[in-house]
Amino acid sequence: MADATTQAKTRRRGGRWRNWSGSVSCAPREVIAPRSVDELARAVGAVGRAGRRLRVAGSGHSFTPLVQTDDALLRMDHLSGITSFDAERGLVTVLGGTPLKLLGDALLERGVAQENLGDIDVQTITGAISTGTHGTGVRFGNLATQVAALTLVTAAGETLELSPERDPETFKAAQVSLGALGVLASVTLRVVPAKRLRYQTRRERIESLIEHLEQYKAENSHFEFFWFPYTQWAQAKFTNETDAQPASANLWTEFNRVVLENGVFWAFSEASRLAPALSPAICKASAWGIASTTAVDYSHRLYATPREVRFQEMEYNLPAQHFAAAMAEIEQVISRERFAVNFPVECRFVKGDDIWLSPAYQRDSAYIAVHMYQGMPYRTYFDAIEEIFQRYEGRPHWGKMHTLTAVTLATRYPRWNDFLRVRAALDPHGVFLNDYLRRLLGVGDVATAASQASGQASAVDGATGAP
Ligand SMILES: Cc1cc2nc3c(=O)[nH]c(=O)nc-3n(C[C@H](O)[C@H](O)[C@H](O)COP(=O)(O)OP(=O)(O)OC[C@H]3O[C@@H](n4cnc5c(N)ncnc54)[C@H](O)[C@@H]3O)c2cc1C
Repeated sequence: MADATTQAKTRRRGGRWRNWSGSVSCAPREVIAPRSVDELARAVGAVGRAGRRLRVAGSGHSFTPLVQTDDALLRMDHLSGITSFDAERGLVTVLGGTPLKLLGDALLERGVAQENLGDIDVQTITGAISTGTHGTGVRFGNLATQVAALTLVTAAGETLELSPERDPETFKAAQVSLGALGVLASVTLRVVPAKRLRYQTRRERIESLIEHLEQYKAENSHFEFFWFPYTQWAQAKFTNETDAQPASANLWTEFNRVVLENGVFWAFSEASRLAPALSPAICKASAWGIASTTAVDYSHRLYATPREVRFQEMEYNLPAQHFAAAMAEIEQVISRERFAVNFPVECRFVKGDDIWLSPAYQRDSAYIAVHMYQGMPYRTYFDAIEEIFQRYEGRPHWGKMHTLTAVTLATRYPRWNDFLRVRAALDPHGVFLNDYLRRLLGVGDVATAASQASGQASAVDGATGAP
């Protein structure tokens, strides 16, 4: 049993919680920050037995109200670090609250790395996998595909060890599960030998990128580009393994990345906010300023880019074959509607997988993301682009804004009802559901959950998924 002092440190009255973009905030009644997995299990079980509600927070980098709660907020801050490393089998077990940057550094010390990452490294490992966070590269799945086993704490306070061998159904449901099945106390990841990457970026015409798309995707480990609306130009990024040593001449690149890219871009974004009509001209100036740079570094350092300028974002996964057609429509609608947007459209490519709620489930995928500077209206822009995504069988990134709810999502995810069945069995009283998740998953009340547990999934449509 934890003594009184530990319990006092673990549980406290909550202040306000806000996500990174400022789109979500809440005032939890209690914040729980356990210092061990046992303490975590006891605390979750106690909340469950009391008929209360609990949401678990990662680093708050999701744009949707997944973490929102007015009851208990579980923070994983003290559950961080590597607990075991099996060099022979390439497996590493980490506590759920481990931030990606810390994980990358700790893995490098052991001569290994995650095979792929997204473009920032401040998320926790479990926050990242729970929403299907991805990077780019057609030979890599999203981050959840790196997971070999999971430790899940359920609403009853039980600790389940999940893997493809031990409980394949619950494992496939839990790999991307929005914190709706329970708390991921730890994760075992498959890792690869540490690698150095060479990153090259240059300005290239969008027609050329579309023309050479398959070639660029096939010839580069990681290929992505950012197209600037109102221009023919994009920033193309090519990243590949190299034997070269990290270049210490990276000072210029660092200056470019941190000061110029973020500072100038912030100034441009402020100009766009104060005078929205200038947005097309600002896009042209940004495209004009795309520099050709090269950098070499260990993989986890190179994937991550500083994001000092805050924004709102919507990102969808489309079947890879629809990418060019969807992009053409996006170009047309932006030119026609003259949206006041100065952020580029981000395009990435990911291998299909077999995780029930992964947006890349059973399809090689393209991801297209649109952004809007903080403080500028985004709804009409996002709505117009989302309408295009809908016509191309789009599945939203779970952590980014979208307006889908259960009725539509059920048609996009072949294993949707199986996920609901597992959820209802693990958490029949909805301890881990907030209002947003109830709408998203179509879980009305406990009776509905009980019927889902017996295999009759139901779906309700309703309010938008965006905050
Ligand atoms: C600037 C920026 C850049 C981004 N770049 C990318 C990118 O390159 N690629 C990409 O795909 N996405 C990207 N994202 C989105 C981001 O990766 C996801 O939203 C991710 O889920 C955020 O992780 P987090 O640790 O902040 O988790 P949070 O946002 O705090 O939580 C996300 C979800 O995970 C759940 N969760 C957290 N911890 C646990 C746990 N221990 N057990 C169970 N559930 C848990 C939460 O309840 C919630 O449902 C970006 C977001 C921002 C703001």
